Amino acid sequence: MYYFYHPESESLFTFINDTDLKRGMSGDRSVVELTKEQYLEKENERKKMTKTKTKSNFNADRLKERIENAGKTSDTFWYLKLPEGLKSFKTIVGDNFIRPLPPTDDADDFAFDIHVHYGIGVEQYKSAFLCREKMLGEACPVCEESRKLIQAGRGEDAKAFKITSRTLVFVIDRDKQDEGVKLYDAPTSSVGHNLVALCQNRRTRKMLDISDPLKGFDAIIVREGLGVKNTKYTSVQLDHPSTPLGSAKEIEEFLEAVPTFKEVLAFQDYETMKAEMTGGVRPEHDDEPEDVPEDEVPTITDADTGSDEEVEVADECPEGFDFAADYDAEEECADCKKDNKATWRACRKAHKALNDEIPF
Ligand SMILES: [Zn+2]
Repeated sequence: MYYFYHPESESLFTFINDTDLKRGMSGDRSVVELTKEQYLEKENERKKMTKTKTKSNFNADRLKERIENAGKTSDTFWYLKLPEGLKSFKTIVGDNFIRPLPPTDDADDFAFDIHVHYGIGVEQYKSAFLCREKMLGEACPVCEESRKLIQAGRGEDAKAFKITSRTLVFVIDRDKQDEGVKLYDAPTSSVGHNLVALCQNRRTRKMLDISDPLKGFDAIIVREGLGVKNTKYTSVQLDHPSTPLGSAKEIEEFLEAVPTFKEVLAFQDYETMKAEMTGGVRPEHDDEPEDVPEDEVPTITDADTGSDEEVEVADECPEGFDFAADYDAEEECADCKKDNKATWRACRKAHKALNDEIPF
């Protein structure tokens, strides 16, 4: 018996006699002949490796959760839908360098404000909806419920139905330019307003188009902290001097890839929102499940005041993987689910939006 190892394909094989050997080797010089002991040792090693791998990849809790929740999670709604190939921009802790891109639709500015109802629905299957009233001037079941509660003197309960302002901007992530155009869903008061404010020189009051592909500017957004409670944006400023967006070819490619804001908005009809919401109205706080963190429920002012304070949604993978894109793909996802439920849920929702599983 002759023993061999082929390093490139990591395969082990044997030949019984000389004739086989001549036929099998067919001039492949990378094959290494082994002694019987070496062969058996290698075989053992491989068996062990396969075992370890199987063990570490099988996550009983995660699979159990998936089996139990099959069919349920597809009922949650998210307010954004990304066209294929378009990633969402997620800030990192520290300096973020972005270049706002000019809008595709002349009627829009580069920054587009939206109004969202977060945390609508039952227990862990909460959805987020664009407010039909603020954005379309039509009836919004969430706003109606909020008003009803306020009129009934239950302002505290109405807070769960408040409106949160977000600002959408298509950007190039200067640190990951090869990933192309991304959609940045930013909190309005701490980032959106400030990005827009960069278009006016504070001293001269002169207007400046920071999104101009040739004469525009990058912006630096400084983020501190991770997670829903700790995230803070401490500054938004221009990165001087002005730079072109890229070469003529790059500019053309980038601009062609910018969708209209309309294309990324996922409006749901009144009935869908109402149905999703009714399950979520739980005036009795006693039956609030213990594992739902408080910050899952928006805590800011009621919809009727027209307040635009924002609730920061988690948008960063605490394990350092790609938020949303890597949802449930890593072993650490199970830990995150256990210890960081709000983030895990936000990740799941964003993942769903990315994969366009939601029927629009
Ligand atoms: Zn509304």
